[in-house]
Amino acid sequence: MESSHRLRVAELAAEVTTLAGQLTGVRAELSALALAEAAANPCPAWCLGDHDPDDGHLGEHSNVILSRASFADDGEPDELRVQLAESGSGGPVVAIGQRLDDLWGPDMTPAEARRLAGALIAAADDAQAPAGSR
Ligand SMILES: [Zn+2]
Repeated sequence: MESSHRLRVAELAAEVTTLAGQLTGVRAELSALALAEAAANPCPAWCLGDHDPDDGHLGEHSNVILSRASFADDGEPDELRVQLAESGSGGPVVAIGQRLDDLWGPDMTPAEARRLAGALIAAADDAQAPAGSR
């Protein structure tokens, strides 16, 4: 009885060794795939690089505090967040989000973002134009 026990333990130990070897092989394959993915889609200069190879690229947030907007429970004013992102093909997009509701608006191409910026500047210029200047 005891020798069959030893035999079974030896068989299990051999299986564990085999599985450990297979696991090492799978880890090496996954690592190679991750490196290949990263090499096929390297981070652009604006990407923070803090993402998995399967995820899209993300840039740093630029925040604009909205002094006339709602305040959060913590007393902090709402703010708009602007961030560059890219997933898949088609190039990077400019995303605008609202902090309090964690809402993100529609993505814009860089050209659309420039047009929006121009429209905002024109509106701000109009708002601050001296009376009777138009
Ligand atoms: Zn990236």
